[in-house]
This record gives sequence, C-alpha cells and structure tokens, in this order.
Amino acid sequence: MATVPESYTQSRSRFQARLDTVTARWPEAILRSIPLAYDPNLTTDVISADPLVSKDRLIVITTGEHGIEGFLGSAVMELFFEEYLTRLDPQTTGLLLIHAINPWGMHNWERQNARNVDLNRNFIDGDFEPLKKTNPDYPALSPYFAPEKPLNDVSAACRDFFFATIKNFAAFGPKRIREAALMGQYYAPKGIYHGGMELQPETKTMMEVYREGFAGYADIVHLDMHTGYGPRDQMTLVTSPHEKRPAAVLSEKFGAPRVAAANPDEFYTMQGDMIDWEYKLVEREFPGIKFFAATCEFGTYGDSILQAAHSLRTTIVKNQLNQHGGTSQAKEWVEKEFRELYLPSDPAWLVKALADARMSFDAVMK
Ligand SMILES: [Zn+2]
Repeated sequence: MATVPESYTQSRSRFQARLDTVTARWPEAILRSIPLAYDPNLTTDVISADPLVSKDRLIVITTGEHGIEGFLGSAVMELFFEEYLTRLDPQTTGLLLIHAINPWGMHNWERQNARNVDLNRNFIDGDFEPLKKTNPDYPALSPYFAPEKPLNDVSAACRDFFFATIKNFAAFGPKRIREAALMGQYYAPKGIYHGGMELQPETKTMMEVYREGFAGYADIVHLDMHTGYGPRDQMTLVTSPHEKRPAAVLSEKFGAPRVAAANPDEFYTMQGDMIDWEYKLVEREFPGIKFFAATCEFGTYGDSILQAAHSLRTTIVKNQLNQHGGTSQAKEWVEKEFRELYLPSDPAWLVKALADARMSFDAVMK
C-alpha cells in the first residue's frame, strides 16, 4: 500500500529496499545514498537505472525538495513502484528516482533546509548579489512577513496578522503581497521564502545528479512532487515559463485536469526554481532532446483569497517560531497548522492525491 511514512528514516529504508524491485527488471540499477554535507547521517537517495538497449526515454521522479512535502512524495513514489514499474520497458526506458532532495527538512518536518533556505529558490547560476533587488516589495513588507519577536501569544499574533493584512491589502493589493511572499527573497536570511546567499549543498548535489543522469537520453520527463498550493483535493501540474506548449495540450498529454504556468496570473513567479534550472541545463548541455519537467502540486488549504491568507499566516507564524522561539502552547498550535498545510490529516485527502498522481502516471507511461 502506498502509505504515508511516519518518519524520514522509515521512508528512506522503504525507498532503499525498492532497489530489489527495480533490479528485478533493470539488473544494473544502482542505489546511491549521498550524505548531506552538514549532517552526514542524512542522505539524498538516488535509484538510477539505464535501459538495457537504447536510451530512448528517461523517467525522473523527485520528492522532498521541500522536506515535509516529501511525506506525500514518498507515498506517490511507492505508488509508482507498486503500479507502474512493470508497465515500463527496461529495453528503452531509464529511471532516475530521488528520495528527499532536502533530507534535513524531511527529517525535521520542515519545508526549508537547516539554514532557512527554500531550495526551490536556490537553483541560481552565478552571483547571488544582484538578486537582493529582485523582490522590490519584500523590504517594506518584511515586518509583516517576519515579525522579530518570540511567538508567545497565538491570539495576539493572529489579531496582528489580521489587521496588518487589511492594511497591506489596501497599500499593495493581494496580488503584490502574494508575489512578494512567494517569489523568493535574497534580502532577509531569517525571513520567509529565503533563497539563500549562496548555492546550498543540497542544490549542488541535485545539479550534479541531473547533469550526470540526463546524459545520452533522447526524451526526458520529470515530475517533481510538492504539496501546499492550489485548490484543495486537486493536483495542479505547474509548468515552467520555459515550457512553450499551451496548457490544454499539456493537460491532455500529462493527464492533469488542472495545468498552470508559473507566472503571476496562473500560479506565481519564482526565482531560483529547480525546474527552470533544468530547462536551462538541457538547452545549454543537451540541446535538441525532448524535455518536459513540471511540479505536481497537491493542494491542501485551498486557493480562495481567505485560504491563501490562512496559508500565509501559517508560513509567518511558523517562521517566527523557528527564528525567535515561543511558548509550548504556541508551538503546539503552529505545528498542527503547519502539518495540515503540507500533509493534511484527513485520509480522504491522501486517497484523492494518489488518484490524481495515478492520472499523471497513466498519461506519462502511455
Ligand atoms: Zn513545495
């Protein structure tokens, strides 16, 4: 059964044990456990299998770039092993399966890495310095996004958030606030959605894994598992601005009823996005191959304006607690809110998430 694991270590063991399932059909498949530079007991695990005859096609599935989101990712990976592996042709199809891009985050039920960096804002080529200016509204909104005090009183924090939201909605409008929050920022290391001041070790690891893993393939499809955004009980396939095919075509091809492009109108803009980086890698180093990569976003709170505000509030209080501490009651309340944002407790949510994942896998395996 494709269940949600109870811990990072349990999930990792389950993934590692799947090497046998893969070698049954791809005898030369290998498992690599890449230690995290600053905490070597934690690893990013990679199962790779080249086709036996020709490198026609590579299927890439990744999980846990945002730590805690890797719990659903792990269930989806199991689903792939259980129901899809036997449907692929080992003669012509290769696999690159990745467990926990951000192992520290998954181990600690956090979204960012140990240095408060959102890894999906960290895939940057070159200098980070100019990025400090890329999110022009963040500095003015910084006291709202990242209050610099302990979280001692939850009701007071919620009240402050409510009034600050009304004030900032009037001053900036909801769209600019959303963009400023989610785009990524390279300005405040203790703020929300911080993209880092340099490449993180997890990012460097993945850059190498992709560069090495993509070589020689004619056609690559990559699905990256995430949770938290979009309508509740509905997977959204979020495509890169580098993907030029229209949403309707992709929706049909990849079996997703809802396809959104990562731009302010359909989703949001991002700096340092992993999938954007992959498109650039392919363009630079593997020109002419067929490439498609997208994020599977499994919605949790929902995407109405109130639900979006709720999600922002959870992000803010969680970061406040992480950066400045708080009372044990505050911690308990925040952890519960945070868990619901990335891994809802309702069993029906998981059932629907797996059904949506099946639709995408069905389409990809065709
Ligand atoms: Zn995510």
